[in-house]
Amino acid sequence: MPASSFYKFGPHSISAGQVFMKTTHCLGLVNLKPILPGHVLVISRRNVPRFLDLSPEEVTDMFQSAQRVGKIIEKEYGATSLTIACQDGPAAGQTVPHCHVHVIPRRLGDFENNDDIYDEIARSTAELLTNDDAIAAAGAAKHGVDFEERAPRTEEEMAKEAARLESLLA
Ligand code: AMP
Repeated sequence: MPASSFYKFGPHSISAGQVFMKTTHCLGLVNLKPILPGHVLVISRRNVPRFLDLSPEEVTDMFQSAQRVGKIIEKEYGATSLTIACQDGPAAGQTVPHCHVHVIPRRLGDFENNDDIYDEIARSTAELLTNDDAIAAAGAAKHGVDFEERAPRTEEEMAKEAARLESLLA
């Protein structure tokens, strides 16, 4: 795939600076609104909504990528475990209709109730904002519960994290 300054994540435009890993079928990208430090996504290169849409080769690549990324983020963020999750379809809480796996470094006590992370994943939508809209909203008036609790990060913050993770994968 030729170098591109933007990638599609469902309806969103993702700047190349957010992408820290490229494999044959997947991309690793840092999160606009991480639930915990180091919360990243492995997405399919094809813009298809469902895990069920992936070929066997794409499934293999996605989970090998999640494993590879998990190894580096667990260490980088001083974690001892990982939550690896896929919300496959809107009824399962998926908000971005582009197949992806969440990889999240975990530590004992990071949530008062350990499984609350699944509620957080379900609530972690950037809603219908485009990337530009979301970034413009950072620091601005809050829109609803999601934004009150977790503002979207700036391009600069995300690019810095992506560069660090890319260097760890090299
Ligand atoms: P889900 O609700 O399982 O579809 O997860 C969507 C994930 O995508 C959430 O973790 C969001 O924070 C994340 N997200 C949404 N828009 C963007 C974006 N433009 N760049 C990076 N991550 C995003």
